[in-house]
Amino acid sequence: MQRAEDLLASVFGFAGFRPGQAEIVEAVKNGDNVLAIMPTGGGKSLCFQLPALLQDGVTVVISPLIALMRDQVRALKEAGVEAGALTSGNTEEETEDVFTALDERRLKLLYMAPERLASGGTLTLLRRAGVTAIAVDEAHCVSQWGHDFRPDYLRIGELRRALNVPLAAFTATADEETRAEIITRLFDGIAPSTFLRGFDRPNIHLAFEVKDQPRRQILDFAAARRGQSGIVYCATRAKTETLAGALREAGHVSCHYHGGMDAEDRRVVEARFQREDGLIVTATVAFGMGIDKPDIRWVAHADLPKSIEAYYQEIGRAGRDGAPAETLTLYGPDDIRLRRTQVDEGLAPADRKSADHTRLNALLGLAEATACRRQKLLAYFGETSSACGTCDLCDCAPDVFDGTEAVRKALSAILRTGESFGAGHLIDILLGNATDKVVARGHQDLPTFGVGKDLTRSQWQAVFRQMMGHDLIRPDAERYGAFRMTDAARPILRDEARITLRQDTIRKAVAKPRVRSLVSEDDAPLLSALKAKRRALAEAARVPAYVIFPDRTLIEMAEKRPGTLDEMMQISGIGAKKLEKYGSQFLEVITGADEPVHPARRKLAGQPAGTVFDRLLVAQAELARGYDGTGKHLTCTSSTLRKLAETRPRTLSEMGKIGGLGDQKIERFGQAFLDILTDV
Ligand code: ADP
Ligand code: ZN
Repeated sequence: MQRAEDLLASVFGFAGFRPGQAEIVEAVKNGDNVLAIMPTGGGKSLCFQLPALLQDGVTVVISPLIALMRDQVRALKEAGVEAGALTSGNTEEETEDVFTALDERRLKLLYMAPERLASGGTLTLLRRAGVTAIAVDEAHCVSQWGHDFRPDYLRIGELRRALNVPLAAFTATADEETRAEIITRLFDGIAPSTFLRGFDRPNIHLAFEVKDQPRRQILDFAAARRGQSGIVYCATRAKTETLAGALREAGHVSCHYHGGMDAEDRRVVEARFQREDGLIVTATVAFGMGIDKPDIRWVAHADLPKSIEAYYQEIGRAGRDGAPAETLTLYGPDDIRLRRTQVDEGLAPADRKSADHTRLNALLGLAEATACRRQKLLAYFGETSSACGTCDLCDCAPDVFDGTEAVRKALSAILRTGESFGAGHLIDILLGNATDKVVARGHQDLPTFGVGKDLTRSQWQAVFRQMMGHDLIRPDAERYGAFRMTDAARPILRDEARITLRQDTIRKAVAKPRVRSLVSEDDAPLLSALKAKRRALAEAARVPAYVIFPDRTLIEMAEKRPGTLDEMMQISGIGAKKLEKYGSQFLEVITGADEPVHPARRKLAGQPAGTVFDRLLVAQAELARGYDGTGKHLTCTSSTLRKLAETRPRTLSEMGKIGGLGDQKIERFGQAFLDILTDV
């Protein structure tokens, strides 16, 4: 594997393989048929890209999404790899370049949309081009039962037979049925070398919160992560729109996305999200497959997802680059009721409904967990692990109590009232409130009347919610949500089992959310300056920021502060080609930042204006000697830049009024500053 490891460092800039990668690379390189199941973010692309560089001839890559293919090709070219794509999104020139590279036998990776396989000329083209391997990304798209089914994927098996070359299939979907279908359709039923990589995503922090003031909870979470790209999943289309509005009002850059929008509008949001650093998209689950952004820093659920699988997949979109990412899932009794009802009222056959209840139960169990959430999540997927240290319950152990008595009282209230009421009325009975409804039904005479005075109303609400979460009771859709006891509750009722519950899990709203940063306070300004630099370069090259360098690389740069190009080369994610292209530019930012942070910048720490300030600083440094680099050296004072960042003039004349900027400086920097100031 020596050569593979050399290329890993020199082309991709990685110090070593991620778990599972080495074996897969080895198998693909040896020409085995391969099926690799790896979690999102596990680093699947490298497993076919690296072998492609080690082999003669071209590797054809079939991938379902044009935008993603184009980004991967750009990223490869940035790293100095001969790659091209044939998609309907190509310009004539791009297609021409691909053909030339094929003719000259230079091309190593040829990306292709599955639709292309339908055209007769494709096979002839590939035969002529000297294809030596096929790689299939998102291989679960061959599954007719999955929601990502692509009919054209069914042609891939045929292609493999026609070219008679090895095929490597990659997917993050691991269930048995899908796996079996992939083997049937892509490998003619002959089992390939199969690699199943664990489900853990240790860089993703897990947290759940009970809904208290849900909008505030989401706004606080976003406020603490200002400027970082995130997704907020909502249960309804309407909520995506109102929440995006609320986020914008709070000063974030945010837009909504749902299946009811025009295809074109959706495409615009997808493209913006892919390109921009710091956009928040509020979305329904329709926002899924089309996103392949490795630097999503957080995912929040404004409402409970529908199952543990959905939860895992949705949070899994965060932190694909391996840098820390955070998640927050909000839930409450109404969510539980909604999800139960959706299953009950759905059209699925009975056994499917019962499976869906089980998957929902698994998620609720995770929500109401009393110890490490990751352990519980991984256990669901059949993996054992120790407490993770990166979930809310590891951060701060919850207060628990023996809830057996409370649960038995609640069950007794439910049974004695004929399983016909919801939480409100049941709690009145437990608390001994002789309301009109209680009196009208004679419930003040029940032996359970007033037996629950030791808890408050909100504590009882938490008990009922947790009983739903542990599937001891279920709302009955046909009886307006009245609670029914389930079989799971019988042992507790009969005093054969005990249950531990959490004390109220509602977090009291904190006055001001603490700003979370990816790096320490000392390194934050440098990280921000490096990001500004990356943004300028990405805009100039018209590529997404992560194509230049992923967040993880910038974080490492900010922390290690390489002082020379040699030291820079040690940073993960920097290969030879990128070092040559960008190394010295980032080095300048780093050496520039070694000077103590100016007090004017310090005052803006953690505010949106801070980022603007950093971008102004970069623009100024670039123009310090004019557009051609031969002019007189000019700079503005830090306090002028701070004023600009805070007041954000929108025209040159407004800019002139803030003082500190004479005609000369306006002429030199004015337009560049305005571009930045009007962009935020
Ligand atoms: P997926 O498995 O979801 O397709 P990708 O192939 O897009 O994941 O990889 C996710 C991220 O991990 C990318 O940013 C990639 O550059 C990075 N990555 C892949 N392999 C390694 C490695 N060996 N070391 C460090 N980073 C890696
Ligand atoms: Zn944990």
